[in-house]
Amino acid sequence: MKNISKTKKILIGIALILLLLITGGSMYLYPAYMFFFQTETQLLDKDLTLVLGGGGNSGILVTDKAVVVIDTKMGGDAEGLFKLAHEKAAGKTILVINTHYHGDHVNGNHFYKGSRIYIGNYDRGFLKKEVDPDDMPTDFVKDSLFLDLGNETIMLYDLGQAHTFHDVVVYLKNRKVLFSGDLIFHHINPFLKNESGANVDKWMASLNVILNKFKLEKVVPGHGTTGGKEMVQSMVNYFGDMKVAAKDPARASELKAKYKDWVELPMMTSSQATIDYIRKAGH
Ligand SMILES: [Zn+2]
Repeated sequence: MKNISKTKKILIGIALILLLLITGGSMYLYPAYMFFFQTETQLLDKDLTLVLGGGGNSGILVTDKAVVVIDTKMGGDAEGLFKLAHEKAAGKTILVINTHYHGDHVNGNHFYKGSRIYIGNYDRGFLKKEVDPDDMPTDFVKDSLFLDLGNETIMLYDLGQAHTFHDVVVYLKNRKVLFSGDLIFHHINPFLKNESGANVDKWMASLNVILNKFKLEKVVPGHGTTGGKEMVQSMVNYFGDMKVAAKDPARASELKAKYKDWVELPMMTSSQATIDYIRKAGH
C-alpha cells in the first residue's frame, strides 16, 4: 500500500508539472501566434484590398483586364480570401502570384483551379517535394515579368536567393506599392531555414536592390503591418546588427536589446535564433 501511494504521488506530481507546462506554455505561445493568424482587411484604394495575417499577407488588385491575388494564405483564411477575390472579380480572369513557396503563402492555391499561378524560378524537383500537387504554381518567373493589365502594370522580379531560393517581389508600377513577400518581416524576427535556402548575405543584397530599384509609396511585407521605405532599411539594419552580434558575442546583448520589441515566434524565430543561424551558416 505504501508503495502504491508513493507511485500515485509521483504520478500526480508528473501530471501537475505537465499541466503547468501546458498552461504556462500556451499562455506564452498564444499572443505571438494570435498575432500571426488573425486577419485584418484594409482597403488601400477602391481597387486594392489587403488582407493581412492568416498566414502571409495578401493583396487583391482589381484592374481593367484581370484581378490579381498576391499570396493565397492557408486553412480557413485561404478560403475567405478566395471568396473575396471571386466576389471582386465578378467574372474577370483571376491571376495569382506567389512571392515564395512556403505553405502560409501558397496553401490556398487550389482554390484558383484554372488560373495562372506565378512563382519564382525554383528547381521544379525541389518544388514538387515541398508543395502539395493541388497547390502547385503553373508559371515560373525567370528574372522578371511585366503584366500590362490596362490601368496598372504589375512588375514581378525574381530576386533570387534570400529568404528562400527564389523570392519574388511584386511592384505595382502606377501605385508605387511593393509586395515584398517574406523579404520583410515588419517588427517580427524573420523565419530562417537552411532547407528553404535562407541566406542572410544574399537577403541583405536583395533588400538593397529593393532600396535602389523602386520608388516606394507603400510596402506590404510578408508578415506584419504595412509601412514605407524605412521598413526595408530597418530589415537591412537588423541583419547587419545580428551579423555583428554573431561575430562579437560581447556585443550580442546590447544589439539584441535594440530589437526587443520585435515579435518572436516561440520555438521558431528570435534575435538569438537569427544570431545562431548566422553563426552556423557562416553568413
Ligand atoms: Zn516564408
